[in-house]
Amino acid sequence: MNSKDTIIHAGWLINGSGGPASKDVLIKLSDRIISSIADYTPGHDEYLDFTDCTIIPALCDSHTHLAISGRLDPEIRDNQLHYGYDQAEAMITGHVRNYLKHGVLYVRDGGDFHAHTLRFKNLHHGKKGNNLSIYAAGNGIHVKGRYGQLLGMHLTPGRELAQAIFEDFRPGMDHVKIVNSGVNSLTEFGKETSPQFSVDELKGAVRAAESIGLKVMVHANGKEPVRMVVESGCHTVEHGFFMDADNLKRMADKGTIWVPTICTMKAYMDNSAPESGVHHVAKKNLTHQLEQVEMAIRYGVTIALGTDAGSPGVYHGSGVIEELGLLLKAGLSIEEAIKCATSNAMQLISDAPNTGTLSNGNQATFVAIKGKPADLPDSLKKIREIWVNGKRI
Ligand SMILES: [Zn+2]
Repeated sequence: MNSKDTIIHAGWLINGSGGPASKDVLIKLSDRIISSIADYTPGHDEYLDFTDCTIIPALCDSHTHLAISGRLDPEIRDNQLHYGYDQAEAMITGHVRNYLKHGVLYVRDGGDFHAHTLRFKNLHHGKKGNNLSIYAAGNGIHVKGRYGQLLGMHLTPGRELAQAIFEDFRPGMDHVKIVNSGVNSLTEFGKETSPQFSVDELKGAVRAAESIGLKVMVHANGKEPVRMVVESGCHTVEHGFFMDADNLKRMADKGTIWVPTICTMKAYMDNSAPESGVHHVAKKNLTHQLEQVEMAIRYGVTIALGTDAGSPGVYHGSGVIEELGLLLKAGLSIEEAIKCATSNAMQLISDAPNTGTLSNGNQATFVAIKGKPADLPDSLKKIREIWVNGKRI
């Protein structure tokens, strides 16, 4: 063994590919890269003992709002719209800490009114001790008078969507966020809202974004808004409640990635009075979304785990436990659910090569969680260690 090598004896390994967990595994790191993964063989004493742990790749939340908290109080939520940067920074710092506590090292942000998250990212990027990689949209774009104010700026009438993407580009932006529907009704089951943009506008947006190296993430619920998003070649459908089987088939064909944010609906259900209409509708919406996820897996749609943390009752970090639990409820194995939060999610991240799975040649960036795979996802509350690029943090 080379003196620079480190060998970890893991109780269990979930490697992020979706395949079954392996038991009793030796993971060898050479120059901070994984150089081999093999079954445990006795006879050496220089192993780092992680036999009480399950090791998984670092997690990614593919849909968050770092500058919005999950607080329920409408007044507090409204106040957040008017936060200055310093106030927002204190809140974002807390959210970052909560993500790290739950083994999340990458987040894809869906925008906020003042683009505070983008500013936070640019101020903290690359600094020592900054272990959460933030991928930011800045402002989400929506049509004046329609849903989306909390997430960004409306498109000024007379201005084209593609033009706004070029002109409003700011350094540090990693993707473009567009809002193409309303939110889901909590009083009427499955009520569809109209799209905000046309297919031509969305196609123009994709061309504009791709020409500056950005992908397009689109908030869309309902058959027609989602159909347009998929047809126009946008990269991800965010939420996608009530999109229906035909859209799921189209997404499987086109390779459009789905971020179903199931836990938002569970939070509405959990935080409403059990006998109320809201509770009843939220519960039906949740059941419908779980059925869509089950269908998506059958059709071969790639699902990336995202929580929409910042939505009422959805909290940064712990929301990932909720969403993993709901993916299990939809019929995924824990290994498949972890894949949604690792290798699938990392397909949306441009500058983190050799991550997403723990395999030969990949970065040794992982989370050691106390307990066996069957203890997940709750055991994410009991993280023993996090390693980034071959080093314990
Ligand atoms: Zn969102």
